[in-house]
Amino acid sequence: MSTDTLLSVDNVTRRFGGLVANANVSITVRRGEILGLIGPNGAGKSTLFNLVAGTFAPNEGRIMFEGEDITTLSAPLRCQRGIARTFQVPRSFDSMSVLDNVMVGGFVRARSAAAARDIAYETLEFAALAHRAGASAGDLTPPEKRRLEVARALATKPKLLLLDEVMTGLTPSEARLGVELVRKVRDQGVTVVMVEHVMEIVMPLVDRAVVLNLGTVLAEGRPHDVVRNDAVITAYLGERHRAA
Ligand code: ADP
Ligand code: MG
Repeated sequence: MSTDTLLSVDNVTRRFGGLVANANVSITVRRGEILGLIGPNGAGKSTLFNLVAGTFAPNEGRIMFEGEDITTLSAPLRCQRGIARTFQVPRSFDSMSVLDNVMVGGFVRARSAAAARDIAYETLEFAALAHRAGASAGDLTPPEKRRLEVARALATKPKLLLLDEVMTGLTPSEARLGVELVRKVRDQGVTVVMVEHVMEIVMPLVDRAVVLNLGTVLAEGRPHDVVRNDAVITAYLGERHRAA
């Protein structure tokens, strides 16, 4: 393993009954990069995030973070080590304020409520959501909720941030703000893995892309090459992309 490897997923398999959601998946995430994880619905992208974040363990294989085996570590312990994630379906605490939601993330590093609040404010400023700090999370618009998910994850001060379809349903101008936020996060030294479907958004943003299909890695490489890969066009992008 090279020293610039932050995360490596080695031959990981995860089954749900008879269904193999991830089959012998191996990927490497380099420190400081933005990696795009793409592929059709049901390909196993969210399952891979769940395996990395510790929601559940793989049936086979190994997950290494900063050179240490975290395969059986609990989700809270992985979060302490610096792995944060958003959920494809936002999971805000709707009766709590936006600030309090982000404080939940802040408590991962903070020793006091005051310190967690400071982190939360700082993160809300960073995520351009500070003007909604006092609102109930339940009153946020869908794009604001996605931003809240990102802010709560960032408040844990992660080394690795897993973003699961955070740009879905955004207008083009909202998506531009989202792209700007992801770049800012990376510029702070955070490594990002993002699942995203809109190629126009994800391809200019990522350094590398991995394509999952039917639970296996179909292709990986520079975005420019991946979108020209015949197997990727056939399984996922469709023929209109070949023309484009
Ligand atoms: P993607 O995020 O790429 O759309 P998922 O990882 O959500 O794909 O799902 C991959 C496959 O695994 C799907 O067939 C899905 O129904 C199944 N799956 C995912 N999570 C679970 C679960 N917790 N229990 C049972 N089946 C699951
Ligand atoms: Mg998914």
